[in-house]
Amino acid sequence: MSSPNPTPLDLTLDGGTLTARLVDFPSVSGDEQALADAVEAALRDYPHLTVDRYGNNVVARTNLGRGERVLLAGHLDTVPIADNLPSYVDGDLLYGCGTSDMKSGVAVQLRLAATLPEPNRDLTFVFYDCEEVEAHRNGLGHLAKERPQWLAADFAVLMEPSGGMVEGGCQGTLRAQVRLTGVRAHAARSWLGDNAIHHAAEVLTRLANYQPRRVEIDGLEYREGLNAVRIDGGVAGNVIPDECVVTVNFRYAPDRSEAEAEKHVREVFDGFELTVTDFAAGALPGLSQPAAQAFLAATGGQARAKFGWTDVARFSALGVPAVNYGPGDPNLAHKREEHCSLSAIADAEERLRAWLTS
Ligand SMILES: [Zn+2]
Repeated sequence: MSSPNPTPLDLTLDGGTLTARLVDFPSVSGDEQALADAVEAALRDYPHLTVDRYGNNVVARTNLGRGERVLLAGHLDTVPIADNLPSYVDGDLLYGCGTSDMKSGVAVQLRLAATLPEPNRDLTFVFYDCEEVEAHRNGLGHLAKERPQWLAADFAVLMEPSGGMVEGGCQGTLRAQVRLTGVRAHAARSWLGDNAIHHAAEVLTRLANYQPRRVEIDGLEYREGLNAVRIDGGVAGNVIPDECVVTVNFRYAPDRSEAEAEKHVREVFDGFELTVTDFAAGALPGLSQPAAQAFLAATGGQARAKFGWTDVARFSALGVPAVNYGPGDPNLAHKREEHCSLSAIADAEERLRAWLTS
């Protein structure tokens, strides 16, 4: 399905109106082409920008030879529409699919791209597809793999909804299975067997007694967690089970590497058979970087740790410290009543403009 809205994007509109235009350009994951075309065409009107495209990913850059390069990134896709298009305004609020997550952030990127021909730092604007779906489809991941030179920067801001707060880095996540074994037997003669589910008791006790670490990095407090998220076991109502698997999820602070996180989990479950099934590295907030310090000051100086895994980790993997900062409200993302404050959009644009021009 292609977009029914062929209206070109006018980047001279104010941020709120531009957000509404972007929202009325449906772009559910996998269906971003029309919007990517419009974004690319709009950016090509500005001679101070070099515009490149890879798939439905658009990258625009200034090349002024400044000492520092800052990258602003946002995804073009949304989750499926929930009877919440077209957009409409009610007072200070703009309603519609993608208003918060994250076309308001994309509108701010586009406004800055169009209106800052002489920024104090060189700028890279990245617009990418398929953020809301499986990781292997993620456009930023494709760029990191196929066009990493386009993502070179000293500092990156991912304009995901953060309620106007700076959210630094992100935690890592590790999933593992702890497998308990026993001996199968008839439940009527249970002394002939060895119940694998009962062996899970020790695993659960260790989890219940586990003291998660709190750690401060660059002034942000990260809170770890180690939890059982699933338990599988049992054969039939009259059988002593010979296998039980407890799946655990470790959310760890970004000062641990993947290897250190795995070592820690293996220590917690010392003596048990453990298989790591899934990994995603965290990302350091990088708030001690000069560009980040200036950014923090310009955005009001308030920062908090990001607990979920986000695409900032992709920048971290490329050696680019990254934070989340966007005008949307993360609690409204993916909701039917999704909306964004028009004044918050204007405020985010103003703060970023001050950072990039002062
Ligand atoms: Zn998002």
